[in-house]
Amino acid sequence: MLTFPMKEFETHEQTYYDKGVHFILFGVFSFLLFRVLIQRKDEFFKSAILSLLFGSLYAFSLEFLQNYVPGRTVDELDLLAGVGGAILAMFYAFFIHKSPKPSLLLHVCCIGCGVYVSQLLKKEFKVTLYFYNPNIFPLREYEKRLEEIKKVARRYRLKVILGDYDHDKWREMVRGYEKEPERGARCMLCYRERLENTAKYANKNNFHYFATTLTTSPHKNAKAIMKFGQELGREYELGFLDRDFKKNDGFKKSAALSRELQLYRQDYCGCEFSLAEAEKRRKARESK
Ligand code: SF4
Repeated sequence: MLTFPMKEFETHEQTYYDKGVHFILFGVFSFLLFRVLIQRKDEFFKSAILSLLFGSLYAFSLEFLQNYVPGRTVDELDLLAGVGGAILAMFYAFFIHKSPKPSLLLHVCCIGCGVYVSQLLKKEFKVTLYFYNPNIFPLREYEKRLEEIKKVARRYRLKVILGDYDHDKWREMVRGYEKEPERGARCMLCYRERLENTAKYANKNNFHYFATTLTTSPHKNAKAIMKFGQELGREYELGFLDRDFKKNDGFKKSAALSRELQLYRQDYCGCEFSLAEAEKRRKARESK
């Protein structure tokens, strides 16, 4: 296509057609390259410059090769058309990439689920992580989870907002429900309070949506979480993203990603009561 028909036999129509083909071909090539790079790097300017460079270099190399094809000569206008196509493709990429996405405040309880869900949602939303978990006990465990979140957020260039950590206040809230099993009445209070705090922050800071990674775990009551989220969404005039993230093997995928990134994965939900239950389970396993 780029070497034939031979130049001396070209009509005016064929010349325009030929330039048009160069323009489209190198434009499409550069745009596809941009899509591959942006998915791997998620850095707009680096991806656009590399795509423009490679698109132009490709156009230049093919034009240069014309010197070695019998009956062909280098045509600067073909080269200009190719580079022009690559430049226009980058303008188009800029337009698509910069078109605003709705903002979403994503409540995270640990980074394993946080990184999986944030990567899942990043194409649709501008995601900010919100670490608000006063339920976590002891403080050492809270700090460990937080450290992991900060580490991964740096790696994935995610913004993290820290909520308050007041475990005594949380204990006051669940007073009288200490003996409840996991997924029982104490957990309902715990889910709702963390979601309400997230909704309040999202409302105050003009987010469009809020969501939580809590639905990634098969040990949590996703139906109740979504019901609370919808109620709070109405109350705080926000969209609640009511997705059950464990669907489509979400929990397995998040565990696999954590292993791949060598992340810390706790073996209990968060509070001292769930820690005691986990220890009981551990002892029962060991005594078998
Ligand atoms: S088990 Fe988990 S969800 Fe239930 S109260 Fe404890 S920390 Fe909250």
